[in-house]
Amino acid sequence: MTITEIKSQGLEGIGFPMYQLINELYPICRSITGNGVRETFRILKKHIPVTTHEVPTGTRVFDWTVPKEWNMRDAYVKNSRGEKVIDFKKNTLHILNYSIPVRKKVSLSELKEHLFTIPEYPEWIPYRTTYYKEQWGFCISHNQLIGLEEDEYEVVIDSSLEDGSLTYGEYCIRGKRTDEILISCHICHPSLCNDNLSGIALAVFLIKHLSSLSLNYSYRFLFIPGTIGSITWLSLHEAHVSKIKHGLVAACLGDSGKFTYKKSRRGDAEIDRVVINALKNSTFDYEVRDFIPYGYDERQYCSPEFNLPVGCLMRSPYGQYPQYHTSSDNLEFIHPRYLAESFSLFLMIFDTLENNKAYVNQNPKCEPQLGKRGLYQMTGGQQDRKRKELAMLWVLNLSDRNNTLLDISERSGLAFPVIREAASLLVKNNLLREFVQ
Ligand code: ZN
Repeated sequence: MTITEIKSQGLEGIGFPMYQLINELYPICRSITGNGVRETFRILKKHIPVTTHEVPTGTRVFDWTVPKEWNMRDAYVKNSRGEKVIDFKKNTLHILNYSIPVRKKVSLSELKEHLFTIPEYPEWIPYRTTYYKEQWGFCISHNQLIGLEEDEYEVVIDSSLEDGSLTYGEYCIRGKRTDEILISCHICHPSLCNDNLSGIALAVFLIKHLSSLSLNYSYRFLFIPGTIGSITWLSLHEAHVSKIKHGLVAACLGDSGKFTYKKSRRGDAEIDRVVINALKNSTFDYEVRDFIPYGYDERQYCSPEFNLPVGCLMRSPYGQYPQYHTSSDNLEFIHPRYLAESFSLFLMIFDTLENNKAYVNQNPKCEPQLGKRGLYQMTGGQQDRKRKELAMLWVLNLSDRNNTLLDISERSGLAFPVIREAASLLVKNNLLREFVQ
């Protein structure tokens, strides 16, 4: 089975198990370290045997240090009547992520200094973190803030911030070549669906699918906490980095927005051209953006000394949809249909990378006579036949060692699968052979 043949086997169906996995992971309080991440991997291991690694607190990773491990057990704010007015158990976003332990009585005005809201969306709870500054806080809806009365409040944050480790996961699929395609997703956000969980679910189901195929490239999937995770991985695997020939950061892939591709720092890497080619030849609406040093882990993969060919593929891009980093990035915000579309786009990209080879025309002096080989005016729909013939002529004309099938697809404006199919037909008829450097 080739990568894209899954289409005929009911691609749409793949969105539902992805959504179910997101549903199972949603309630967990994750952060850049701690048991929420380990619990996430315990669930992922029911699907794929992902390998987990623990990097101790204090480990120097380039200019950074692996932080103390944070674990949350419970957190709440009670009023003087003993009623919990804020309860972490109702929503993991209520706690300022990485809050230090606290147990004290405070006035309303002191409490307010530790509360975070979004006045523009008064019903939503924001997601805020304090990874590198030791403080405490709660996130609540703005309407709830307005409703808080003068009172003495009891604040309890039963958390720990101690030496421990940073957990990340890795899964490798060995192909014929040792050259790798990297797929990286972040696992550090608590109850947020599009940002975080959609990328994780997509990676898990891509692994399941790719594992059953015979592949040219090797594939490396990283499940890492944002920023500190990619810095840590790069720091520990510096010698390995040259194996990465193409890569994508996968995030925000479950919402209804159009696709957004953020190019690698190089801007013209093969992965950039392949993603743009796949989008152009799909029915999906999309936008392509240039690299900027802000965003997800592509910032680290594309830092100047590494400068890896790693882009970032999203639907609605980080920071640019109102639900981003709020309680509205929830199970209603994403849909199995959009997850399935994202899955199919990644497969199209892999399919192009796997098959992007150069060929040599075996009959380069004038056109070969296609008719006598049964390759011309074959039966079939008029339009389809014309497209296939045109694809054969393009492949024959440009297969002079210097052009790959992607070059030919770009120059002809014909979709990569049409070009690839033409090349395979010409190889079968001894009119083309693969160019091996
Ligand atoms: Zn985020």
